[in-house]
Amino acid sequence: MNRRPLIIANWKMHFDFVEAIHLVQQIGVLLRSKSHDNVDIVVAPPFVDIRSVASVIEADRLPLAVGAQHVNALESGAYTGEVSASMLRRLMVKFVLVGHSERRTLFSMTGDIVAETAAACLRHGITPVVCVGENSDEREGGTHREFVEQQLTETLRFLEGLAGSIVVAYEPLWAIGTGKVASTGEVDEMSKLIRATLAQHQRGESHILYGGSVKTDNAAELITIADIDGFLIGGASLKAESFVEIVSQSSDCYGKKR
Ligand code: PEP
Repeated sequence: MNRRPLIIANWKMHFDFVEAIHLVQQIGVLLRSKSHDNVDIVVAPPFVDIRSVASVIEADRLPLAVGAQHVNALESGAYTGEVSASMLRRLMVKFVLVGHSERRTLFSMTGDIVAETAAACLRHGITPVVCVGENSDEREGGTHREFVEQQLTETLRFLEGLAGSIVVAYEPLWAIGTGKVASTGEVDEMSKLIRATLAQHQRGESHILYGGSVKTDNAAELITIADIDGFLIGGASLKAESFVEIVSQSSDCYGKKR
């Protein structure tokens, strides 16, 4: 394993800009005394907090990059309420979550739109974090492998010929925000499938993250899975202590995993 772990905090629709500044400062303070040298860390706040969070990161020279939780695939125009990749790029956003299951299920984000959005990110020098994952029906019905392979393939086909890195986040829907984490065997199986699918599309070196109820008491085990290169974290990223603890455990485990 030679990919440096990547840990992304998805703050979802939590924290106004004052609260977000406070949280990123707390993370910065805790990182001073916790190991983190072996990992890359990203925080993805709500759009309205990005500028403030980026300013704190820059001013305090924090070892963090800024991400966003969504972006529109189009360049500009009469699309009320939307934000473009070029706008995020100007805010120094380096990563964007694309097709998070909450966007797919609650905001009708289709596979085609996910693919177009990932392509828009690449065109603007932003790394798309393409989220895939089956729901509990697919898992129980035994179609989870085909489902995830198809979800990923439709995006990878669309990205053919486009330069730039992508990240894939495997997030089984039944594990997101439920406290029910996938077993290491389940994550191992799905991450191998994702790695093979990425390789078929000349993207075999991409980071694969796991997301779904990652906590301080399961992160160290999950990060040892051969094809898992980090985490996308919701709930446990809302508190500086638990987020930095997961960062630090991942950083410590990376040496052993190599
Ligand atoms: C997420 O929403 O991407 C996520 C993984 O959430 P949680 O960690 O709370 O399950």
